[in-house]
Amino acid sequence: MTTRTKNNTLAEIADFLKTLDRVAVTTHVGADGDAIGASAALVRLMHKLGAEAVFCHSEAVQDYLAWLLPEEALTELPPGHDLLVGDTSRADRTGVPIPEAGARLNIDHHEDNPLYAEYNLVNPRAAATAEMVADLYAELGEPIDKPTAEALYVGLKTDTGGFNFRNISPRAHELVADLLRAGVVPAEVNERINRRGNVEQLRIVGVSLANAVQYGEALISTVENADYERTGATEVESKESIDQLRSVAGVDVVAHLREVPQGTKGSLRSETVDVGEVARHFGGGGHRLAAGYTTPRRPNEAREELLEVLKGVVDLGGER
Ligand code: AMP
Ligand code: MN
Ligand code: MN
Repeated sequence: MTTRTKNNTLAEIADFLKTLDRVAVTTHVGADGDAIGASAALVRLMHKLGAEAVFCHSEAVQDYLAWLLPEEALTELPPGHDLLVGDTSRADRTGVPIPEAGARLNIDHHEDNPLYAEYNLVNPRAAATAEMVADLYAELGEPIDKPTAEALYVGLKTDTGGFNFRNISPRAHELVADLLRAGVVPAEVNERINRRGNVEQLRIVGVSLANAVQYGEALISTVENADYERTGATEVESKESIDQLRSVAGVDVVAHLREVPQGTKGSLRSETVDVGEVARHFGGGGHRLAAGYTTPRRPNEAREELLEVLKGVVDLGGER
């Protein structure tokens, strides 16, 4: 295999995709709306190009997103399929392990993506990987049907916090207009992705909010195993609180630290501070304003460890 560690052009990727006849698409672990939305649209694009295409991921796709996939996900990479990876900044975070021969395509919008595949399309200016998949449809002259439009819309909507974050551009809004023309009804999509909660989820979000502590310009919430037991919710459900944590005036960095079997998973968000850099201190990564990492420490120690790094980044002031 020739590894070309360079970023390809849209035209090169479009030509490359036309040469494939059997592909498997995967995305990052802990798949979010963009991960599944972009992947679903990519699977559908490969179908339109006449290829066999499946989606595979070792983790179960969350219910609120599974409807975007044209068929049920496989849990392993099937033999004889070329692997295409979407929305994944690191080769060690893919939903199925990358085979010996390597990933053939890496399509992503994380600025710290090291171009780990044979063909790479990385555009940090894109609000979502879904936006880049839409670019491929345009480049290939393939019309976007309603199921594809819904998948792309979910990717864009979720990765921009409902079109609120700084990554949203006029171009992304123009794409949304096209997606609506292709049949997306935002209220229907909202119903399907945001109104699927349960009372356990609601409770863990409440616990996560109640556990928030403000240190000057930083706000940190920790959630641990006892909280999952008490509420009957799962660890990933607790992260739903992160946008509400961002609502506190005067806070520049928000951290959600949740206990996981390996230690603690940290999710960082900001309006101004490069939290990708903060996450890289702990071996993680992500975007400038939305990043994550996993540390072997338990949440309470993870908070202290994080405060040490944040000291040099924001004014921590007094604890509240
Ligand atoms: P999260 O807080 O899990 O929603 O992640 C926010 C962003 O950071 C996403 O774009 C992730 O891809 C990225 N990210 C999260 N965890 C890690 C990690 N351990 N290593 C690299 N990037 C990560
Ligand atoms: Mn993602
Ligand atoms: Mn994304």
